[in-house]
Amino acid sequence: MSVLHLTGPVLARLDSSGEVEVRDQAWVLDGRITFDRPSSAGSTEGVEVLDGWVLPGLVDAHSHVGLGPAGPVDEATARRQAETDRDAGALLLRDAGSPADTRWMDDDDAMPRVLRAGRHVARSRRYLRGVGEEVEPDDLVAAVSAQARAGDGWVKIVGDWIDRTTGDLAPCWPVEELTRAVEAAHALGARVAVHTFSEQTLPDLLAAGVDCWEHATGLDGETAAAAAAAGVAITPTLVNTARFLEFAAAGAPKFPTYAAHMRALHARRSQAVRDAVDAGVRLLVGTDAGTEMPHGLVADEVAALVGAGLTPLQALSAASWGSRAYLGASALEEGAPADLLVLPADPREDVEVLRAPRAVVLRGRAVAPRG
Ligand SMILES: [Zn+2]
Repeated sequence: MSVLHLTGPVLARLDSSGEVEVRDQAWVLDGRITFDRPSSAGSTEGVEVLDGWVLPGLVDAHSHVGLGPAGPVDEATARRQAETDRDAGALLLRDAGSPADTRWMDDDDAMPRVLRAGRHVARSRRYLRGVGEEVEPDDLVAAVSAQARAGDGWVKIVGDWIDRTTGDLAPCWPVEELTRAVEAAHALGARVAVHTFSEQTLPDLLAAGVDCWEHATGLDGETAAAAAAAGVAITPTLVNTARFLEFAAAGAPKFPTYAAHMRALHARRSQAVRDAVDAGVRLLVGTDAGTEMPHGLVADEVAALVGAGLTPLQALSAASWGSRAYLGASALEEGAPADLLVLPADPREDVEVLRAPRAVVLRGRAVAPRG
């Protein structure tokens, strides 16, 4: 049996006080991590050595696999999307809504691990065409329940979108219906992630008990404090909200109020992330890959979070240890699946090293760099 020797240091996990537990070295045996030198590692025969800083595999907590600019894509395209994320180090994807059936990936050891939210649940004519399950408020509970059964412990609801009758962003759901839908998802063992751009929606998300806010550009100090107190997690997707000026320009001729709103949200988006950090909100790294956004941008999002004011350690936690724990995945513990990156330098010093891993190891096998 072949053994992988990780000569370290190994940034294994966060301890209960939030400090990184650093191990000198580790081994991979049968796809799993061990900190006890295997007896078969005594000789150099059959032992492959990977030298460098070891970090648990990155998380993209807001990705869409199987979704392209024109809706669902074929299997070969979905595979390329997942491989692109994987080779960039994102070994655990929370799929934040996709109309494509990507279950086949679960049986393919070369694919990153995917936690699905089923299809987006959206208000009729209030989302990208052909992507979501579109319903009116009376059918929200039923639609959310169906997607909770179809997913992997998550449901995705589109919480606000442009209302063409008023020409501005507006919440999509009455708070009573949203609350009932969240209760229904929770009763089925699923957590709820909600797409939100607007300030106006956040009090409803709080009242309804939504677990995770996606984008959350409407955040300020007050809503951030309330989110922190309620244990809400936030996925800022800065690489995507950078495009708000494009959305504004496209909407401006017909919807000038919406365009002005999007410009204002764009101007405040880094401050919104700082408000979240200052309030102690749990942040998740997510790129919004799919539709218009390319896959493979996980290191860009980590860098963007540092650019917005997170420390490298905070951004790394959002990309790895912290998000893995939040999503129920292990870090590098004895016996844990060997999903990890080997880096040329300490990422706590400079997150830019995430862009060029020496190796990406998935299920104990080096899958990248390729070629
Ligand atoms: Zn998305």
